[in-house]
Amino acid sequence: RTPVPSDDAISRAQIPKNVKTVAKEAGLTEHEFEPYGAYKGKVSLTTLDRLKDRKDGKYVLVAGITPTPLGEGKSTTTVGLVQAMCAHLGKLAFANVRQPSMGPTFGIKGGAAGGGYAQVIPMDEFNMHLTGDIHAISAATNLLAAAIDTRMFHESSQKDAALYKRLVPSVKGKRQFIPSQLQRLEKLGINKTNPNDLTDEEISKFVRLDIDPETITWKRVVDCNDRLLRGITVGEGPSEKGRTRETGFDISVASECMAILALSNSLADMRRRLGNMVVASSREGLPVTCDDIGAGGALTALMKDAIKPNLMQTLEGTPVFVHAGPFANISIGASSVLADKIALKLAGTKTKGDEPGYVVTEAGFDFTMGGERFFNIKCRDSGLVPDAVVIVATVRALKLHGGGPEVKPGAQLAPEYQNENVDLVTAGAKNLGKQIENARSFGVPVVVAINQFATDTPAEIEAIRTAALKAGAAEAIVSNHWEKGGEGAIDLAKGVVKVCSQTDNVEKNPNFKFLYDIDTSAEEKLNTIAKEMYGAKGIELSPLARKKIDTYTAQGFGNLPICIAKTQYSLSHDPALKGVPKDFVVPIRDVRASVGAGYLYALAADIMTIPGLPTRPGYMNVEVDSKGQIEGLF
Ligand code: ADP
Repeated sequence: RTPVPSDDAISRAQIPKNVKTVAKEAGLTEHEFEPYGAYKGKVSLTTLDRLKDRKDGKYVLVAGITPTPLGEGKSTTTVGLVQAMCAHLGKLAFANVRQPSMGPTFGIKGGAAGGGYAQVIPMDEFNMHLTGDIHAISAATNLLAAAIDTRMFHESSQKDAALYKRLVPSVKGKRQFIPSQLQRLEKLGINKTNPNDLTDEEISKFVRLDIDPETITWKRVVDCNDRLLRGITVGEGPSEKGRTRETGFDISVASECMAILALSNSLADMRRRLGNMVVASSREGLPVTCDDIGAGGALTALMKDAIKPNLMQTLEGTPVFVHAGPFANISIGASSVLADKIALKLAGTKTKGDEPGYVVTEAGFDFTMGGERFFNIKCRDSGLVPDAVVIVATVRALKLHGGGPEVKPGAQLAPEYQNENVDLVTAGAKNLGKQIENARSFGVPVVVAINQFATDTPAEIEAIRTAALKAGAAEAIVSNHWEKGGEGAIDLAKGVVKVCSQTDNVEKNPNFKFLYDIDTSAEEKLNTIAKEMYGAKGIELSPLARKKIDTYTAQGFGNLPICIAKTQYSLSHDPALKGVPKDFVVPIRDVRASVGAGYLYALAADIMTIPGLPTRPGYMNVEVDSKGQIEGLF
C-alpha cells in the first residue's frame, strides 16, 4: 500500500475544472449560473421554474451510526459515492453537503470536505469563506440584535405618541401592514387593517413592543470558536445611560437565520420565515417577532444571495452543491432544501423511461439526530421523500460500542482498534442494528456502507455485513473510497442504484411515513422520539421545560416539530452509554422555539452554542506560501 497523502496535498495536486464546465455538465444554462471566480459559483432559483415539469431524480440520505469523536466518514462516503456514480457508472449524481463553519475548521475537528480521495475541491475555498453565505447570516443576525436593543432604548427614553407614529410599519414609504402584523393587531383586539385608520392610542398600543428584557432569546453571532463571548454585557458605553444587559454570542451556524436558509423553499418563504422569528416576549406575554421590529425585509435583503445554492466539484470533477450548514446539535444538521430541489430536477428525467440521476445528501451525527430531523423536519418542510438511506458504519466505532476503550482525538488508538477483534465488532453491531431499525421505521430501505480503514480485516468486515443484513438492511457493502476515490465505491454505488430502482415506477415511495403526527402535543412528540428512536423508557420534563411548553402552546406554537439537542456519542442523553442502552429516561431541561425556522428545540444536555478552542487549535498549523496556497488545513 502506498500511503495516502494529506487531504490538502491531495486537493492541491488535482487541478479542478473551471466550474463553468461543471455547471454545464450538470445541465445548467449560462444564465442560471453565476461564477464566483474559477472554482465556485451560485445557482439561480429560476432553474426550478425551467425544470418544473421534470420528474425528480433519486434522493439518497447518508446518515451514520453513533460515532466516535473522530467521525466515521459520512461526508467522505457521500463524496465517494457520487464520484463512483458519476465518474465510474456514467450517471449524473450530485453530492449535496453543508458549508462548514470556520469555528471547527480552526478548532479541533478540521474541515468537512470529506477526506482522502473522496473530497470536495478546492478544499481551502470550501472550508473558508466560500461565497460569503455565513457572513451574510452573521450580518442579518447581528442587524436584528442591534434592532432589538435599539428599539428598547428608544421606547424607554421617549414615551410620547410621536415616536410611535414614526414607527408604524411602512413599505417603500407607504404605511401598510404585513400579515404577521395583522395577527398582532388581532391579538391586541384592534380590528383595523389600514394603518392610516389607527387612533393615536391604538398606534401607541400596537407599535410599542414593550419587550421584556428577561425574555430576549436573540443573540449576536460570530463564526469563530470564541469562548469568551459566551456571556457578555452590552450597553456599557456612557451614551447608553446605564442601560446594560447581559447577553452572549452564538456561533453563526447555530443561528436561526442559518436554519431558515436550510429549510426555505423559496425567496418568499425565506422572507416570511425571517419575519416570523420570535425574539422575545412583551411584558404582557405576546411574542415579539422580527417583523414587529420592522427588520424582516432588511434581513432578507442581506440574505438574498445567500439563498442561491453554491456549486463546486469533487476530486473527480463531479458536481457538488454546498449550501447552508446548520449545526447538528441544536439545529437540524442538514444542507438546504433548495439545493436538494434544484439538484433533484437537474438529475430528473425528461421523458418516461430515461435513466434517473442521483442526489446524495448527508445528515449530521447519527441517524437518531441528523436522520430523524431530516425526515421529521426537513422532509416535512420540503415535501421530498428519499428513495434510500445509506448508513455509514466503521469497524472502529462498532468496537467502541462493543466495549472497546475510549477513542480520543489526537491520541494513539488502543491495540483493540489496530488488531483484529471480531467479538468486539459483533457485540457493537447492535448499535448499527438499532440505527437500521430506526431508518426503516420511516418506510425507506437501508444500505449499510462499511467505510473501510487500513486496519480492518476481512473477518471484521464480514461480521458487520452479517449483522447489518440480519437487522434488515437491504444491502451491506464495503467501500474504500477514502483510499481509492470513486473506484473504491463502485460496489456501494451499484447497491444504492439497485435499492433505489424499487421506486422507479412510483411518484413517491408509498411506504414513507413520519415518526409522529404534527398535531400531537409537544410532550407526546418528545416521548415518541425518545422511545422510538433512542430506545428510552420515556422523558422527564423539568419544571422549566414544562412551563416553556405551556407558554409556546398558548402562543400557538405547540404544533411545530421538535428537534432534541443531545449528545452525539450515545443513543441516549448520556455520552458514557455505548451500544444500545436500555431503561433510561431522557431528561428535558429546557425547551426553546425557532418559530421562523419552524421547530421547537428541546435540550437534553448542556449544549454549547459557541464552541471553545483546545490548547493547540487547528489554526496553529495553517500557513500561506508565497503563491497564496494554504497549507495545514485538514
Ligand atoms: P463525518 O462526516 O461522519 O463526520 P468525515 O467524512 O468528515 O466524517 O470523516 C472524518 C475523518 O476521518 C476525516 O478526516 C476523514 O478524512 C477521515 N476518514 C474517513 N474515512 C476514512 C478511512 N476510510 N480511512 C482513513 N481516514 C478516513
